[in-house]
Amino acid sequence: MAAHRSIVNTQYRFSMKLFSRIAIVALAGAIAFSSCGEEKYTKYQCPMKCEQEKTYDKPGTCPVCGMKLKGIK
Ligand SMILES: [Zn+2]
Repeated sequence: MAAHRSIVNTQYRFSMKLFSRIAIVALAGAIAFSSCGEEKYTKYQCPMKCEQEKTYDKPGTCPVCGMKLKGIK
């Protein structure tokens, strides 16, 4: 019984190791993906510059022309 229990324990440990590895890869992938998205922008501006150089802190649409605000690095 003791031997059987240790085998189960080893399999459990292995699966936990594998799971944590997958979790790390998934997390790294999520970080890499989000850094490629709109998250890197700190300011947003109308691509038509309806309000000249006015910028917004959050993504959205221009109140003048309704176009999607463009992210600025
Ligand atoms: Zn506009």
